[in-house]
Amino acid sequence: MESALTARDRVGVQDFVLLENYTSEAAFIENLRKRFKENLIYTYIGSVLVSVNPYKDLEIYTKNHMERYRGVNFYEVSPHIYAVADNSYRSMRTEGKDQCILISGESGAGKTEASKKILQYYAVTCPASEQVQTVKDRLLQSNPVLEAFGNAKTLRNDNSSRFGKYMDIQFDFKGAPVGGHIINYLLEKSRVVHQNHGERNFHIFYQLIEGGEEDLLRHLGLERNPQQYQYLIKGNCPKVSSINDRSDWKVVRKALTVIGFSENEVEELLNIIASVLHLGNVQYGGEDSNACITSDIQIKYLPRVTLVLSVFACLHLSLTFLSLCVFHHQLMSPLNLEQASSARDALAKAVYGRTFTWLVNKINTSLTYTVYTRTHTNYSVIGLLDIYGFEVFQHNSFEQFCINYCNEKLQQLFIELTLKSEQDEYEAEGITWEPVQYFNNKIICDLVEEKFKGIISILDEECLRPGDASDLTFLEKLEDTVGGHPHFVTHKLADAKTRKVMGRDEFRLLHYAGEVNYNVNGFLDKNNDLLFRNLKEVMCMSENKILTQCFNREELSDKKRPDTAATQFKASLAKLMEILMSKEPSYVRCIKPNDSKQSGRFDEVLIRHQVKYLGLMENLRVRRAGFAYRRRYEVFLQRYKSLCPGTWPNWDGKLSDGVSTLVKHLGYKPEEYKMGRSKIFIRFPKTLFATEDALETR
Ligand code: ADP
Ligand code: MG
Repeated sequence: MESALTARDRVGVQDFVLLENYTSEAAFIENLRKRFKENLIYTYIGSVLVSVNPYKDLEIYTKNHMERYRGVNFYEVSPHIYAVADNSYRSMRTEGKDQCILISGESGAGKTEASKKILQYYAVTCPASEQVQTVKDRLLQSNPVLEAFGNAKTLRNDNSSRFGKYMDIQFDFKGAPVGGHIINYLLEKSRVVHQNHGERNFHIFYQLIEGGEEDLLRHLGLERNPQQYQYLIKGNCPKVSSINDRSDWKVVRKALTVIGFSENEVEELLNIIASVLHLGNVQYGGEDSNACITSDIQIKYLPRVTLVLSVFACLHLSLTFLSLCVFHHQLMSPLNLEQASSARDALAKAVYGRTFTWLVNKINTSLTYTVYTRTHTNYSVIGLLDIYGFEVFQHNSFEQFCINYCNEKLQQLFIELTLKSEQDEYEAEGITWEPVQYFNNKIICDLVEEKFKGIISILDEECLRPGDASDLTFLEKLEDTVGGHPHFVTHKLADAKTRKVMGRDEFRLLHYAGEVNYNVNGFLDKNNDLLFRNLKEVMCMSENKILTQCFNREELSDKKRPDTAATQFKASLAKLMEILMSKEPSYVRCIKPNDSKQSGRFDEVLIRHQVKYLGLMENLRVRRAGFAYRRRYEVFLQRYKSLCPGTWPNWDGKLSDGVSTLVKHLGYKPEEYKMGRSKIFIRFPKTLFATEDALETR
């Protein structure tokens, strides 16, 4: 039998807290590498699970594996996503406390796969009745639908989620899943009208065109060729080898039915999808200052938009004229070419974005926990958060600003909750707490979100200011207002060295995870997210029932300006924090091993970045600040009792006395451990290793 020591050399430690040299990033990465080479993609930092995307199917997600992790102590079996799922489930059941599992990592790191694995685990292992089976099916089937409408092929991930997602799974008193609720965040709407080279629009467009039945396509006026549609050709990438649009279409079509969409609703939904494609083909000609829809294309596509959307009036006019209200008179002002194209694109984005929200609401209705048709609120919850990780690109814009702000908030929550739970545990166990020094990123969150003087407030102010407000005046305002902040720099404010790597139209934030330069171009437009009023009016007149739910008249009569995109996002994040704060968190940190989606390649530079952005070293430091290892007395005694004649084969007295007898016999020194109320705390890994080795060589 291989001795414990050589096994540790070969496959590393399964918990980073057991690393001897725990402050060394090199040792951390070496441990990851050893395990990755052995296909051991999971490793803990205490109760945090670190996962490295294997980019190949491993035989570790079978029903047998699920059984192996069911009801077993976290540390008795090798690290696994099922262990996290099971641990949350059992804490919910035994302690009656709502749970949440926060999954983070950059695009392509495996977040969405992880959340699916957790959902599958519950679907298979939780008790079920017939009613519950329907709920399980719907929970599982919500995934392909949301992915069809919300995922796309990007350079980083062939199935990249272009929205953030928080999903509650609700369990009844028997522990059976009985309902669910989904909240979506910040769909990347710009993808509807534009894709970068090598990327695609949302999957559903290609699925419909490739997989839709002949009759259906004819009815929608679509041709079976994505190249025909302006909105699908920007990335020059209609086919992806890892994706089969035709078979995915069948899956999605079936899933819609399982979730409870009527035939009518499916038809209206597909009408909207088709109309977006037709809308994209509406092209403008005429003089620069006075756009008109070019006649031959007008004949071909515009009527199709109006037909499938059932808006018979005004669309044409609204796509070429802006209606203004001046001194209570309605005036029509012609749009120039650029304005007309952007009005068209704004309409396409708004229609798609709102339809996506409608879809989420519809799924939520079908997942509502009902007993005798009454909505039930007495349930326990496990929440799953699958949300974009920290993003740093060559060019960073408004979207990255929002995403990275979100990550600052999550980091803050993490710090507060981890430190708090460490503190609580020490207190509960009656052990003196030794404070840990750590960087509190609240200062960065405040810089972004503080009322009146945070970046979002300043951005909103510029968006509202009539006159000469522009992206550049926004930048100047920032310099005036937050220019002195230690985490904010611009070209003007920077030292000579930083100035070299910054544009004059950029500002830099010093995030907890590193520096990011944001280019202000487009910030005002994206934050305003405006759709001309007359286009909204036209949508309200549609006979398509989904559209009339998405665009309602109340919005038109509302004199107040709608909240800006950043302010809406800020509010939704505040709500998310509230939700997460009320629950007991578990963490899954996903790492992408290389940029080429290859199995077996461990790109050290790339991984080191992620270890930094995910805050893993900091995490480990906090976890190790006090004690490396802690176990409940009964678990510790059960495992090691054979090493001491006094505790073997059974200990009859108080558990803590038994553990005391045992560790004294093993020669633990007083500074190496502490005895809590129900647990033993061991300061250094080597103490535990010696005990483990003794067990192996006994
Ligand atoms: P993210 O949501 O973090 O952007 P995904 O979860 O979509 O990333 O994963 C990207 C791809 O990586 C998946 O489509 C799949 O091919 C692969 N992958 C991710 N996790 C696993 C896993 N545990 N086992 C095998 N392949 C995986
Ligand atoms: Mg994803």
